[in-house]
Amino acid sequence: MTSPAGQPHPGLPPILRGQKALVTGANSGIGKATAIGLGRAGADVVVNYVFGREAAEEVVEEIKSYGVRAYAHEADVSDEGQVTAMVGRMVEEFGTIDVLVANAGLQRDAAATEMTLDQWNKVLDVNLTGQFLCAREAAKEFVRRGVVPEVSRSAGKIVCMSSVHQVIPWAGHVNYAASKGGVLMMMQTLAQELAPKGIRVNAVAPGAIRTPINRSAWETPEAEAELLKLIPYRRVGDPEDIARAVAVLASDLMDYVVGTTVYVDGGMTLFPGFATGG
Ligand code: NAP
Repeated sequence: MTSPAGQPHPGLPPILRGQKALVTGANSGIGKATAIGLGRAGADVVVNYVFGREAAEEVVEEIKSYGVRAYAHEADVSDEGQVTAMVGRMVEEFGTIDVLVANAGLQRDAAATEMTLDQWNKVLDVNLTGQFLCAREAAKEFVRRGVVPEVSRSAGKIVCMSSVHQVIPWAGHVNYAASKGGVLMMMQTLAQELAPKGIRVNAVAPGAIRTPINRSAWETPEAEAELLKLIPYRRVGDPEDIARAVAVLASDLMDYVVGTTVYVDGGMTLFPGFATGG
């Protein structure tokens, strides 16, 4: 596939062969590239979405072209019953789950003084509670099944899609920043609790990635020039940059990595404003 920026998606070695992966919010942006990347790495993939069925089916077709299994599943990750049913169906159809990528997320931006309770709740419900519900259901199956050494050294892997805003405050986005700050502590706590059961929980924190969620930040040359001032590496990221990090983190190549955030951000968390100031 080709990313919106025209960067080819380099092939991934089959580091997830025989594994079963669920990617939430996988019909668009980072989730789409990640679902495709995991398929290229040899995993069977469930492509979750909530509204965009057609786009999800296109992702499924691309994944199947790599010789692995895939299907699309509609579920709202903030709905407990729908999440339970989604993981239950996966266990029925694929036999189990080895990798969860809790990626689904959204923004409802507003100045703090203008933000409605609905805007606050919606973002927390999807970005934080949604990740918790998916992680809980995946972890139950990981514990039930245990380690299958021919498949993976670990009983299961959870990759939480966080953001640089788990540590960088973001005016005008207090709901989003609070949700990602919550994801950091949820991820670390789950990692501490589940590691003794052979389960690895980690996060990937993207910087600015070219997807529909932040179109206004990169779609005009002026906006992109402003954005690049925040990125020491001086390029906006592609969804495939994130997909590769997730695939490697979920694989046994990273088997000793537990409770860590991998920042994939071109250096955005290096406080670039201090490169010349301070
Ligand atoms: P995107 O292109 O807008 O995709 C968001 C995805 O989430 C869509 O597939 C959407 O499905 C799904 N979704 C939304 N609400 C859902 C729900 N209730 N249940 C299930 N799925 C739901 O955005 P993206 O940039 O790829 O973002 C993906 C993740 O990366 C998010 O967690 C975001 O916070 C994080 N992130 C992105 C960036 C960036 O620069 N792009 C940076 C840091 C972190 P439908 O299309 O069906 O609604």
